[in-house]
Amino acid sequence: MKLAEYLARRRRARVAAVMLFALIMGFVSAAPPVVTGCQAQDLTPAPDTSMLSPAVSALAQEQQEPAAQPLPEKWVCLTFDDGPSKTTPDVLSALNAAGVHATFFVVATGYNEKYLPLLTEAVSAGHQIALHSASHEYSDIYRSSDAYWEDIALLKERIAPYVDAESIRYLRFPGGSTNTVSRRYGGKGLMKQLKAEVEQKGWHWVDWNVCAEDAVGGHPSADTIYRNVVRETGQQTNCIVLMHDSATTRTTAEALPDIIRWYADNGYTFLTVAEALPIG
Ligand SMILES: [Zn+2]
Repeated sequence: MKLAEYLARRRRARVAAVMLFALIMGFVSAAPPVVTGCQAQDLTPAPDTSMLSPAVSALAQEQQEPAAQPLPEKWVCLTFDDGPSKTTPDVLSALNAAGVHATFFVVATGYNEKYLPLLTEAVSAGHQIALHSASHEYSDIYRSSDAYWEDIALLKERIAPYVDAESIRYLRFPGGSTNTVSRRYGGKGLMKQLKAEVEQKGWHWVDWNVCAEDAVGGHPSADTIYRNVVRETGQQTNCIVLMHDSATTRTTAEALPDIIRWYADNGYTFLTVAEALPIG
């Protein structure tokens, strides 16, 4: 196979793999309403699942490519949105104690400014930093494509003293890639446009297929969060777990040792998002 053709196949397979998580995420919409962070009620119901099969086969095909780095059969990416925050040191302690690398989709709202130096610590411990939003205000960032990219530019500017912001090529849309809240501000076609623009840059947008439901009202206990993760994982062998790293999600850090132990006991390898979905 010619190199160009091979690279094109790899690229298509990876785009399909990312799309798979977007599709799977539809099942998360049955989760209870979320009051902070990424809001489940804003997500669209499960889309046309007939599109799952091509994505799954593309992923399998990619893994059979002899030259491609094979992924383990069972893997999990632990991901944390909305940090850094006062909870971040506890999250890092739990991850580092277990020797597990995670991915942080970060914000820089102005309110969390004093925690931004923790990003340097996270990177030096081997964790991945990815983009989420500067303001996380749906009414602002989803006004238009320009508004969205201005917010991303501001986020990069604010985190640049602490990480190599220019090298970051992974992001997670607030509310996920199939959120419907953006329609109120930027119209029905905005998310489709933003996804295309992310891909044109050669970046990846990343959703999730396991939701810890840790940002719901009532502040769920560590045990509830653990059970949510186990239940939502079900029989899935490739998991991207959505958790939060915020002032109100202290119990997520408390649940981490049990969550990590459960995935390890069940044969999952812990990967960062960049390891699971590498950009060719
Ligand atoms: Zn968020």
